[in-house]
Amino acid sequence: MTTIGIDVGGTNIKAVLTGRDRCILAKLSLPTYAERGPDVVIGQLHAAVEGLLEHASRDDLSGIGIGAPGSVDFERGMILHPPNLPGWEEVPVVALMRDRWQVPVRIDNDANCAALGEAYFGAGRRVAHFVGITLGTGVGSGIIIDRKIYHGEKGYGGEFGHTSIDYNGPPCGCGNFGCIEAYLGNSYLVANARERILHHPESPLYALLSEGTGALTPRHISEAAADADPVAFDILYDAGFKLGIAIANAANLLDITTFIIGGGVSAAGKPLFDGIAEGANGRALKVHRGFISILPAALGNDAGMLGAASLLATP
Ligand SMILES: [Zn+2]
Repeated sequence: MTTIGIDVGGTNIKAVLTGRDRCILAKLSLPTYAERGPDVVIGQLHAAVEGLLEHASRDDLSGIGIGAPGSVDFERGMILHPPNLPGWEEVPVVALMRDRWQVPVRIDNDANCAALGEAYFGAGRRVAHFVGITLGTGVGSGIIIDRKIYHGEKGYGGEFGHTSIDYNGPPCGCGNFGCIEAYLGNSYLVANARERILHHPESPLYALLSEGTGALTPRHISEAAADADPVAFDILYDAGFKLGIAIANAANLLDITTFIIGGGVSAAGKPLFDGIAEGANGRALKVHRGFISILPAALGNDAGMLGAASLLATP
């Protein structure tokens, strides 16, 4: 039997065909054409399924899983007001796919799917419980308990990015202050870095400041840290330490001690991960101290589609 997983992004749709024992049989990527509206995007989802079924018999297809941005009503199978899919209010994407392909179809949000992908195919294969954290424009996350996504009462569980570590901290887009997203979301991270680099003309990053906003990116900071720039190292260590404190809160609340970190900023590697481990293990309750394990995600951009394919495997 085979399963298809589809990750619907604002720019591209990524899809995978998986077979027995989680082997990957085929992958493809198509433009989303988000600006052309829901009918065209649904057409692209059908095209992705058609493309993958060139590699397997349609009779063997046991189901389709979909990861989608923003709020997803996973019980009714709807994508609700996704921020990067203009013209979508409430689209019954599950019903549309099921009617066309006549197989079970499941849907969940992209951060939950990324975590589930790590659980079945990546860094979380050997643990039953963990929190998957994706550092990107925002700080996304999914809580995996007993190898299943924890949704909470209304399906909005797992918003680790809006864990506040300072009630007087910087304002977050959600209306709260001091959320971890307001420190580690890409634009916040870069804005904080700019402030710090301004005082360090000796840093190789200093020259980028005069090129206007947008010239400095998290990648520049990671590269400078890898080249032993102490300013870049401190920026990433400090960001990691703050994330570690939020992780200590989560470990205390959930008694979960494995945290899997992915997304663009996670490529910063050692300084970031050292900071996270220090913050988390230094601030968690004594019972968890020294036991919190911070793992890099293993699947990169494939996590979402592989998690979507795994939605069918979980009850
Ligand atoms: Zn927030």
